[in-house]
Amino acid sequence: MSFNTRLQTLADEALTIGKACNEGANADYIPFLASVPADLCAVSMACCDGTVIHSGDHDYGFALESISKVCSMSLAMEQKGAELVREKIGAEPTGLPFNSVMALTVHQDKPLTPLVNAGAMSTVSFLDAPDKESRWQMILDFQRKMMSHNIRLSDEVNTSEQETNFHNRAIAWLLYAAGNCFSDPMDACEVYTRQCSTLVSCDDLATLGGTLANGGVNPVTKEQVISPDNIGPILAEMTMEGMYDYSGDWAYLVGLPGKSGVGGGVVAVVPGRMAIAGFSPPLDEAGNSVRAMKMIRHIANNLNFNVYRPC
Ligand code: GLU
Repeated sequence: MSFNTRLQTLADEALTIGKACNEGANADYIPFLASVPADLCAVSMACCDGTVIHSGDHDYGFALESISKVCSMSLAMEQKGAELVREKIGAEPTGLPFNSVMALTVHQDKPLTPLVNAGAMSTVSFLDAPDKESRWQMILDFQRKMMSHNIRLSDEVNTSEQETNFHNRAIAWLLYAAGNCFSDPMDACEVYTRQCSTLVSCDDLATLGGTLANGGVNPVTKEQVISPDNIGPILAEMTMEGMYDYSGDWAYLVGLPGKSGVGGGVVAVVPGRMAIAGFSPPLDEAGNSVRAMKMIRHIANNLNFNVYRPC
């Protein structure tokens, strides 16, 4: 059996496992997300040679949400260097939910990582941009470079989020008061909310991870998007905080840097090999798609992909 045939078999098996699971519930604090059909389910793999394997609803466009934080963090590292991102924003898990105000309070209003809401808004504000619209455009362009040129803002998702993001606005003001927001805080919050509101397919998400697996070169377009020096720091941040306050369990059980979003997407990176992405809306308590985690775990375990257990 060729390797690609094996991957297809694993993808189909993973989909069956994912679809058999009825745990979790759609995010409902963002009205749009509550309305997405809960039975959607997809798994995709993007290999470093550009091969994309998938099963299920792989071309359905869902909201990128928190996974957008990986793109803006990568862009900030490209602009400023990874060390400055670590110094200004951080590289530690908060141990608390992604939108926790308490996490800020107990750390002198420093976000600790670009992969929680506070750190993501701080990261957006940290980018060199003359105004709000150019800040947004450079983030959208970078999402397109890491995934595909089809990525677009959903007005429906964006409106739903902008009309209800009062908690994030409060976080942005707390950051600003402490000197950890480097632009107008409401601009940072608005652009952050837009970056969460782009629609991506499961194949796009796998390509995002594939770009990280492939030393910063998008495996489909072959464009060098991220410098190789920044890949280690990006994957370290994902390991520490990518799966919210389940990141330690994820490292223990799967052993791959990952990132999830409340839109139901999860991506795991196998450095030098591929990325595995899953999508299905129902989430666990921490905010991770239950089916996506099961599907990725099935494939990763079968292929012995665990960066802590190389063999
Ligand atoms: N837009 C969402 C928020 O700011 C993203 C959260 C997430 O996916 O973790 O709450």
